[in-house]
Amino acid sequence: MNSLHQKIREEGTVIGHEILKVDSFLNHQLDIVFLDQVGREFYERFKDQKVDKILTVEVSGIAIAALAARYFKVPVVFAKKLKSKTLHEETYDAEVYSFTKKTTYQIKVSRKFLKEGERVLLIDDFLAKGQAALGLIEICRQAGVTVVGAGIVIEKDFQEGGRMLRDQGINVVSLARIGTMDETEIHFMEEGSI
Ligand code: 5GP
Repeated sequence: MNSLHQKIREEGTVIGHEILKVDSFLNHQLDIVFLDQVGREFYERFKDQKVDKILTVEVSGIAIAALAARYFKVPVVFAKKLKSKTLHEETYDAEVYSFTKKTTYQIKVSRKFLKEGERVLLIDDFLAKGQAALGLIEICRQAGVTVVGAGIVIEKDFQEGGRMLRDQGINVVSLARIGTMDETEIHFMEEGSI
């Protein structure tokens, strides 16, 4: 099986300077056999953390979160994205700015699915400027749950999200860290783990 670095190099397309398209295995078509390895790797990295729940954002985070959750044997909660600004008493809410879509949206999680004191692992496909992760952390703060870490498939190190989260003390585990990329070359920061 191809490594994650290999798959990114062979199947990824760099758009402009900041966006990597990996539609063939992660963001449109899902390579489930490969992504199952991603899920298992997140389990290996966080299995000592007593994870009660995995939290992600719809849509792209759900598949990886679900595959990881099979190993942790815990539920997945995905924050729903909404355009509406109405606040509801029965949800935790946060605002997220998406630099890929250039819009601000709200994310919401029902209060039923996060209980005070639970230990929550965040999972997402990409880490760029960290806005989605910050939104999830804000929801965790409102719920009174502990964030045990963030499992990210692809971190773009040239954007500030990873540094910002690590500075806040979040244990960020990224399976591929891209240092630089352009149409001809993708350079990774470290040896790949899968
Ligand atoms: P952030 O909030 O860290 O700026 O961006 C994270 C979110 O934006 C991810 O959940 C992902 O959906 C999307 N995203 C950010 N950068 C990329 C990228 O290079 N490619 C793709 N496909 N999605 C991205």
